Amino acid sequence: MKISIFLQILLFWMGAAVSVLPALSQEPPKVAPDSQIAEALRQVSAKRIQATIEKLASFQTRSTLSAQDPVSIAAGHGIGAARDWIKSQFEAYSRDCGGCLEVKTDAFTQSPAERIPTPTQITNVYAILKGSDPDSAERIVLVTGHYDSRNSDVLDTSGAAPGANDDASGAAASLECARVLSKLKFPATIIFLTVAGEEQGLNGSSHFAKMAKSEGWNIEAVLNNDIVGDDRSPQQDSSTVRVFSEGLPAAATEAERRLIRNLGGESDSPSRQLARYVAEVSRTYGGPVKPFLVFRLDRYGRGGDHSSFNQQGYAAVRFTEFRENFDHQHQNLRTENGIEFGDLPKFVNYDYVADVARLNLATLASLASAPAPPANVRISLKKPENASTLVWESSPGGRAVAYELLWRSTTSPDWEHVQALGNVTQYTSPLSKDNEIFAVRAVDKAGHRSLAVVPSPEH
Ligand SMILES: [Zn+2]
Repeated sequence: MKISIFLQILLFWMGAAVSVLPALSQEPPKVAPDSQIAEALRQVSAKRIQATIEKLASFQTRSTLSAQDPVSIAAGHGIGAARDWIKSQFEAYSRDCGGCLEVKTDAFTQSPAERIPTPTQITNVYAILKGSDPDSAERIVLVTGHYDSRNSDVLDTSGAAPGANDDASGAAASLECARVLSKLKFPATIIFLTVAGEEQGLNGSSHFAKMAKSEGWNIEAVLNNDIVGDDRSPQQDSSTVRVFSEGLPAAATEAERRLIRNLGGESDSPSRQLARYVAEVSRTYGGPVKPFLVFRLDRYGRGGDHSSFNQQGYAAVRFTEFRENFDHQHQNLRTENGIEFGDLPKFVNYDYVADVARLNLATLASLASAPAPPANVRISLKKPENASTLVWESSPGGRAVAYELLWRSTTSPDWEHVQALGNVTQYTSPLSKDNEIFAVRAVDKAGHRSLAVVPSPEH
């Protein structure tokens, strides 16, 4: 008993010493790689991805409005056949890991809308790799791509629409992450999703995100892969994948918007922290394809499935090749003036898709290994001072053993500095909150980092 009290005093003193004399770093945040994740990255197969994309392109069309009847499914034509094949793939991965994946569908009837002439069944197919830690399994990270396709006419139900790049490439990334990560265990839950209805109006992702919200799912991160095939077009950059993230959160209330405006928080949405996390993961695990962060919701004036999750308040980003080739997407197959139109597998660079899948996999695995972010992070405005006092609640789930302070200049796109704080829930930085943007993140004993949380002001 005496020893235990002595130890407690010693540990308290050590904790206090850490918070008084932090290890100061002026380096951009860098995290040591996890050997399990590094090994998983080597298992991602460009050949498997090629086989998946070629199979998905073989169903003639995967238009959401195309056939789903048993005869067409048996013939391998239409979205019903594609849906059943994806489900069978998830089920095969699950058999290979002793039933570790729960394979599910989210099916609903979409009532008529602008691009849905008649009531249409839309089915999202997904697999759940349940977290191994009961105190962390409620936390979810999710990867998705859309398996529906289209040609020049968005209402064409039977004409060829191979959709190899848009978006068999994204669906293949989700499937390959499932195949490789299902062999491993993570404290938090990972969901591998493929949705339909994207081309008709984001119907599948919208239904799924609303279901998640209404069931109270704690989704920390959504990675949406849409057009990650690296089509050869002029000025294509095969060493880059764009990562789009919203600035002003779609789900922010009017009061939250006022706060964002007052505090200069326009570049600090949870989705933007997720994009920065992807950039950090890339610095940790390397790989030939680097994320190119684009600080806007999506490509100029266009949309995608991640926005369905943003609408429900979830952090979600979109991965897309650097430069799209519009001759090879949303096109009827044809040759005009020597130009071949259509979204065919031969235009896809499978090594590139595999590298994008690796970046997704490393992000999913890092987040699913990491502690939950610290809760209720605040910055004190109780007295006027130039120093900055941050206060937070411990990372829920009990996995965090330490916290880190991140900061950057208000004009910098990404975190510039990191400071180890030890296992504390309060810290005063001598730097001024007027001049810096701060965030706090949690660290587990193996060095996995949570997403960063920017404080709210506390009066
Ligand atoms: Zn698409």
